[in-house]
Amino acid sequence: MRRKIIAGNWKMNKDIHETATLIAELRERMKEFKNEVDVVICPSYTSLVVAKSLIKDSSIKLGAQNMLQHDDGAYTGEVSTKMLTAIGCEYVILGHSERRQYFKETDELINAKIKKALSAGLTPIVCIGETLDEREAGITDKIITTQVNGVLRGLTSSEVEKLLIAYEPVWAIGTGKNATPEQANQVHKLIRKQVGQMYSWAIAEKLIIQYGGSMNAQNASALLSQSDIDGGLIGGASLKADLFMAIVQAGVESSG
Ligand code: PEP
Repeated sequence: MRRKIIAGNWKMNKDIHETATLIAELRERMKEFKNEVDVVICPSYTSLVVAKSLIKDSSIKLGAQNMLQHDDGAYTGEVSTKMLTAIGCEYVILGHSERRQYFKETDELINAKIKKALSAGLTPIVCIGETLDEREAGITDKIITTQVNGVLRGLTSSEVEKLLIAYEPVWAIGTGKNATPEQANQVHKLIRKQVGQMYSWAIAEKLIIQYGGSMNAQNASALLSQSDIDGGLIGGASLKADLFMAIVQAGVESSG
């Protein structure tokens, strides 16, 4: 059985003071659980150091929202894996659709970032997903297959075993529209099949595939109880302790 993981992508929200408040609330609510699912928070860069100290002695883990594929040097405004690991970051979101859309990140660039993250010991949460136009044109499967091929190009089996994939239909992110549990599960199965063909069925079966796109307290149970949905990458609903913890609760219940 794959262990579920619920990760919060705080995006460009919460300064250090708001970060401290939210973490205090999350820690209080986490007392209701016995570590049945993995819980990760991904605050903005400026909040990472303070977040790390505030989650100390809790089961909450820390992730960043992006990083650069180079070690160091003249890359104004960027952050390296070494900077992230030095402060105790364990996860990094890569290839989020907002990075693809606003910062023109390609599968090729995301692939380079994944390799760098893995070599530094970070766990990449690799985002893929189709746009509304692509879904309406009936090419979702083609887009997903191309993205899986592109982002995993050249990775060894042991590298693929260390990453997570988040299926995030772009049309569902921040829009309040979520994929139905069946629609999402179908794509998750496709991703698993594709990874099985590229590597092995044993690796595909163990691969954690999160769903992201307007997951909330109301739809989380139905999504998380699907056979191939192994967790959530949560945007809007991760900014409020009650909403995020309702999703964690759904993750715990669906873990049986
Ligand atoms: C996201 O940005 O990764 C996301 C899933 O956002 P939201 O939950 O707000 O749709």
